Amino acid sequence: MQDGLLIVGEDLCQQLVGREQAFEAVQSVFGAMASGGAWNFPVVREALGYADALYGFKSGFDRDGQVLGVKSGGYWPGNADKGLTNHQSTVFLFDPDTGKLSALVGGNYLTAVRTAASSAVSIAHLARKDAKVLGMVGAGHQSTFQLRAAAEQRDFEKVVAWNPHPDMLPRLAAVADELGLEFQAVSQQELGAQADVIITITSAFEPLLKKEWIKPGTHLACMGTDTKGKMEVDPALVTVATVFTDEVAQSITIGEAQHAVGAGDLSAEDITQIGAVINGEHVGRSSDAEITLFDGTGVGLQDLAVASVAAQLADEAGLAQRITL
Ligand code: NAD
Repeated sequence: MQDGLLIVGEDLCQQLVGREQAFEAVQSVFGAMASGGAWNFPVVREALGYADALYGFKSGFDRDGQVLGVKSGGYWPGNADKGLTNHQSTVFLFDPDTGKLSALVGGNYLTAVRTAASSAVSIAHLARKDAKVLGMVGAGHQSTFQLRAAAEQRDFEKVVAWNPHPDMLPRLAAVADELGLEFQAVSQQELGAQADVIITITSAFEPLLKKEWIKPGTHLACMGTDTKGKMEVDPALVTVATVFTDEVAQSITIGEAQHAVGAGDLSAEDITQIGAVINGEHVGRSSDAEITLFDGTGVGLQDLAVASVAAQLADEAGLAQRITL
């Protein structure tokens, strides 16, 4: 990259970073995390005591990919009334050789594509090859990104969906229709009975799926639980599943596995980094009957990976503003 600070806004990110680029970037950094070539720094997340906001930093260094930076942002619940997204974030990238700020990249759209890429990577590596029915639990902002990315990983024929607020389901039905997939709104039990792959992407603090409802061979990508106290599925389901994650330290503290680990039914040693599967060091799914569960907690390196792609593509195309600090 040339000298100077590159500014890549939300519109440019949307224009330049598609699902395929996000998938490749996330898969690659997960692999680097497992081989020790990339690592995340401790996350800071604080209640501001102002505007009901949660604010924090996620940062890391990908030595293999030469990406250093931080995502700063959080959640402002009053934003929707102002016509703004409640989740707000910006990525700052630095030159790893000098520490000089190299790019400012809008993080809102990228957060959605990198989160969808994460579950898509898990489906690519862990779901049964013959999976036909995709189950969606959750119908909020992230859900349509999740559905689009997942739909590209297997030859799905149908989407079954359930959401605690059923009035939100039509947005998923519209995307399924656009993708040429049959859509059915179902009960939670029916979802478990039909789905070969299930994505959970809600803000739940209580289990939405019970162990008894899930059929053998299912792959679950639990994506909503990213904070202490949150929970989307029965801890007993986590205990019987073979558990994979983006980062074990987050999985056992803020991820879906926190409850099974807290109850003493699962330990950190039982959980495999998805990067080990990507790197060919772990077989991943070992039988057609095994239940696999990906605990997608969301790490800073995912944000930096996709922001770096956005900055590089914007730079190559000469589309981003460049200023001298
Ligand atoms: P959103 O506010 O647009 O949608 C929230 C979803 O959760 C909806 O389906 C809603 O019906 C459901 N919901 C709301 N309150 C609930 C409750 N008390 N119990 C059960 N369900 C409830 O949010 P979003 O942007 O779609 O994000 C969904 C979740 O994903 C959030 O919890 C967010 O923190 C999490 N998230 C995780 C990652 C990650 O990397 N793992 C990244 C981004 C967001």
